[in-house]
Amino acid sequence: MPAMRALIVSDIHSNLEAFDAVLADAEARGGYDVVWFLGDLVGYGADPGPCIERLRSLPHVAIAGNHDHAVTGKLNPDLFNGAARAAALWTADVLTYDELAYLAGLPEVRTEGDFTHVHGSLRDPVMEYLISEPAAVATFALMRTPFCLVGHSHYPIVWTEHERGADVALLDEMEPVVLNPDQRVIVNPGSVGQPRDGDWRASYLLYDGDGGDAGVLHHRRVEYDITTAQGKIRVEGLPESLADRLGRGH
Ligand code: ZN
Repeated sequence: MPAMRALIVSDIHSNLEAFDAVLADAEARGGYDVVWFLGDLVGYGADPGPCIERLRSLPHVAIAGNHDHAVTGKLNPDLFNGAARAAALWTADVLTYDELAYLAGLPEVRTEGDFTHVHGSLRDPVMEYLISEPAAVATFALMRTPFCLVGHSHYPIVWTEHERGADVALLDEMEPVVLNPDQRVIVNPGSVGQPRDGDWRASYLLYDGDGGDAGVLHHRRVEYDITTAQGKIRVEGLPESLADRLGRGH
């Protein structure tokens, strides 16, 4: 199989400025053959339709997140906090039938070669945050591939399996994750459209199938036009907190 390159993105959350900055950065880093999207295309931000259209214009595979489900009625938006619920209801209102049908058709779990894709975790695909060792161990137990890619927490982290459990580390732009089929990992690329690790820049991964035994994951952070993204949220009358938090990266 020829080596392939994948752009791995999650939690775009209707932030077109951040998504476009990621696409441009990935192009400048040598490009990609396919986009692997890990859920939450919409919710929070002001450009749900344009983000859906942008992803659909690219060669891609995608899965659903909890916000995608809330917008299509698969999940009750009352489970969300006030700002998230308001954004979900507004999003459902502004999307076209075709855009809603695209979101409604997304699966919760996919397998691409050595990689399982799921938004939350394998024991609770759209809701569980994979941010504790027991949660990581439970997903390792259900994995049928050496590697799993997740989103949902918006934290760019890697879980490494070992005999007694799992260790977690923050992804580092200076230290690529060299993949080895004998060392299972669960990796979260961080969030494109609403980072929560204290760094406001869009976060993503580039998979290069050429490096190591099973390829290499390169973590990237990218600046984007945050003022424009925040302005659109205010113009649409979405909760002010959704604009503010972009600037804090939290
Ligand atoms: Zn999310």
